[in-house]
Amino acid sequence: MLILCLRAGIRFDHIYFVYMRGAEWDETLDFVRHTLNPYMDAVFRCVVEIVPSLKSYEEVFYKKHIKGKRIGQPYGFNIVTGRGRCTFKREAKTRSMEVLYGKGNDIYIGFAAEEAGRANAEKYKQDKYNRYHFPLVESGITERQCYDFCASLGLLHPFYKIGGRMGCWQCACQGTEQLRNLYFEHPDKWAQLQKWQDDCPFDFKPDGVRVEHIAKRFELEGQQLTVDFYDKEVNNQ
Ligand code: SF4
Repeated sequence: MLILCLRAGIRFDHIYFVYMRGAEWDETLDFVRHTLNPYMDAVFRCVVEIVPSLKSYEEVFYKKHIKGKRIGQPYGFNIVTGRGRCTFKREAKTRSMEVLYGKGNDIYIGFAAEEAGRANAEKYKQDKYNRYHFPLVESGITERQCYDFCASLGLLHPFYKIGGRMGCWQCACQGTEQLRNLYFEHPDKWAQLQKWQDDCPFDFKPDGVRVEHIAKRFELEGQQLTVDFYDKEVNNQ
């Protein structure tokens, strides 16, 4: 969206990437700093400003409910409801963005055509102080088209090459493949995930699956691989 807008002659006073402290992958920051911004600077003479979120993942996790049935308990792992509304994103990213937006501005958000529902959210319509624009939705540009466009410019996040996921590494919504990668490739992050599970008043996954259950599954998978390897390599000899 950014590049298409700039090519169309729109100029921005600020271009923000709110970095959710403690949740973003280092590779994402590296991508903005060392791939995207050099391109932006060379072609458009502007860069993306990297702004740390007001709250870190840990600060949101341990924040205590002050009303309702969970009063006194920590927020814990993120919960996603409705149209992608995430308890962590609301506290970390959305509030930080609202402070940056200020009042009296035209704000451009890069929802793709498939995300038209998000662009129709009441909060954008009811904001008395700012005007919102969703150029990709208005032009019917899909995520796939964005991917192809960025690939043609050499501006793909490195995780696309390995089929990785760019969302927060501790997200409770991530799938088994991402969790398996986290377990085997990032044991320090996995240990932190287990610590949070111990401190969280509810299970990591809504269906009663806790972090230790997932770890056990991956551990057993590893043993199975070893048996298969043994059968193939030793018994066939
Ligand atoms: S990746 Fe997960 S935790 Fe992060 S903002 Fe999205 S839904 Fe929330």
